[in-house]
Amino acid sequence: MQRLFQPIGDLKSVSKKRNALYQKIGIHTPYELLWHLPRTYQDYREPVPVADTIIGMSATIKVKIISKKNPVYTRSGMEIFQAEAVDDADTRINITIFNQKFTFQGLSVGNDYILSGRIKEDPYHDNCRMIQNPKILSDEKNPLEAVYPLTAGLTSPMIRTNIKECLAILDCVNFETIPPQLRDPHRIVSLTKAFHDIHQPETLEQVADARRRLAFEEQLKLELGLHMLKMRSKVKTDYPMQDVSMKPFLDCLPFQLTDAQLQAIAEITQDLSGDMPMNRLLQGDVGSGKTAVAMAACYFCAQNNYQSVLMAPTEILAEQHYQTFCNFLEKFGIEIVLLTGSLTPKQKKLRYAKIADGSAKIIIGTHAVFQKAVTYCNLGLVITDEQHRFGVAQRDRLAKKGGAPHKLVMSATPIPRTLALVIYGDLEISILDTMPSGRRPIQTYAITGKMRDRAMIFVKNELVQGRQAYIVCPAIEDSDADLKAVTAYAELCEKKFLKDWNIAVLHGQMTAQEKDDVMGKFRNHEIDVLICTTVVEVGVDVPNATMMLIEDAERFGLSQLHQLRGRVGRSDYQSYCILVTEHVTDESRERLRLLCSTTDGFEIAEADLKLRKAGDFFGSRQHGLPPMRLAELIDDTMLNEIQEIRETLTEQDVFLENPENQALFCSVKELFREDL
Ligand code: ADP
Ligand code: MG
Repeated sequence: MQRLFQPIGDLKSVSKKRNALYQKIGIHTPYELLWHLPRTYQDYREPVPVADTIIGMSATIKVKIISKKNPVYTRSGMEIFQAEAVDDADTRINITIFNQKFTFQGLSVGNDYILSGRIKEDPYHDNCRMIQNPKILSDEKNPLEAVYPLTAGLTSPMIRTNIKECLAILDCVNFETIPPQLRDPHRIVSLTKAFHDIHQPETLEQVADARRRLAFEEQLKLELGLHMLKMRSKVKTDYPMQDVSMKPFLDCLPFQLTDAQLQAIAEITQDLSGDMPMNRLLQGDVGSGKTAVAMAACYFCAQNNYQSVLMAPTEILAEQHYQTFCNFLEKFGIEIVLLTGSLTPKQKKLRYAKIADGSAKIIIGTHAVFQKAVTYCNLGLVITDEQHRFGVAQRDRLAKKGGAPHKLVMSATPIPRTLALVIYGDLEISILDTMPSGRRPIQTYAITGKMRDRAMIFVKNELVQGRQAYIVCPAIEDSDADLKAVTAYAELCEKKFLKDWNIAVLHGQMTAQEKDDVMGKFRNHEIDVLICTTVVEVGVDVPNATMMLIEDAERFGLSQLHQLRGRVGRSDYQSYCILVTEHVTDESRERLRLLCSTTDGFEIAEADLKLRKAGDFFGSRQHGLPPMRLAELIDDTMLNEIQEIRETLTEQDVFLENPENQALFCSVKELFREDL
């Protein structure tokens, strides 16, 4: 069985170069390659009469070769081979092959061949067709040929060759995750058959059955994995805490917490003073005030003399949280340190020492907080602020630092309840469903580029009143194009639109230090307008900014636009968001209209999900969730069946440790990677 999980590079048919390509698309083992499912199938079953082929399109034909010509050479040195052929109806077609001598040699006069390729008009013979560089298919070949998702450098024929080797291994090891007695009542095929049929099918019915089996498999693995995570965390906490009064903390806040915030804090402190490690998700739309809740949790820990960690997705955000925490918590004598990647070795050493001896009570940073060199004295709580990302992996790696610390995940992804149950199956959930009072809904407008001049007047109007603005340019993060788009736009603003105002740029190509500097200046209002890419997307909080203009808005996803827009509307000033689009389709118009009509993140997420389909939602590794390739096939009946199987399996063997469940365990592990 190990052979299925060996490095993919060990396969005979996988060269070093190809190995690198597979690594790039996240395929490391033969088993993972088997899960690389075809996008579609080329159907070679029924050759069409030559007369029925369409010029300019690909076709499969069955013809007899009647003559072969001598090769001719073009001036550029290309070798052209030609042959004449006829089909059953005696319709003639010419075959042209460039350079591929051996392909041509493979054709013998008098023999029949099935050819597949693009049909053209023969430039030298009137009313005659020509097939160019055809693929020659022998008769015993699979009639349906798998076509894989396009990836730079990896073609479908290459993948098919490698899959063939994987299937041979699969046959040898006889790998099965669901025993027949559990499978049979639900009429699902064996895993071996499913993989064969999805990669090398004879009929489309086989493909359908295989897809059903694999969808079943995926959902079962997901449920088993989440169940294991949940069960595993049911151990006594190593960090028992006393209930302490939150009053001093609440009294020092400059605002009244919302009921939702108070409720969340109550749930968290109750978890923290309980017997089990907390495993909680704090979900709240952008601007709902998650930071204050996190701060309360850290305060509670510090009063219990435990350390807590707050991990942010970016340096900018870590820095900002650090500032906020210092403002509110330092007066209680709680020492807070910031850990980011851009510290000097000397700074690092000093801070590591404070963390190790326990004098630092709250540690805020990026992923730098879980580097090997960091040793905690008594880490009791781990908070990850992931905004709209969801990284099971990172969350867990950090958790492994101590015994079993309490965990709180903060997310601004408003996920519909049903989906949340699946995605966050191992977590308890607290929801911030009300906004701090005094907030006015952001007014959002969609305009075309023609109205940009007028929009800029609108922007200036806000600046005149002492407010600040963001302008977001769409660009691929971390690329040169990114830099150009943003700097070019900034120049235009400097010269034309916003002459007398302080402008600065912020993009992914800047160093963390540079980004911090700019953000700091923006926060202190030394900068009026920040021209940026989506690097501002994550949680930045500058309440004085009330205007956001987003260029090429149709290029962003709905939820992403909602996140971006959440950078404004963080005070009791009226805020605005202007969406500029140039190329509007009906679909994008509808999407933007929705955004203009509501500021409810849940409504937007639900619409986004519908537009993108659940498959995509699961599929993007952005959520840190195992990819679900066939999620769209899963219906309620199937969910029930899977539930039943899951229960039967785990009744006996929660962590799938018995030998007969070894295959299942391996594949659950493959799905969850380092999380299990
Ligand atoms: P998010 O949930 O998006 O992380 P933040 O925690 O950054 O939101 O809070 C957004 C802004 O609202 C911050 O400026 C914060 O100080 C402020 N805020 C948080 N809670 C309240 C409240 N109860 N009343 C008024 N303002 C609040
Ligand atoms: Mg936040």
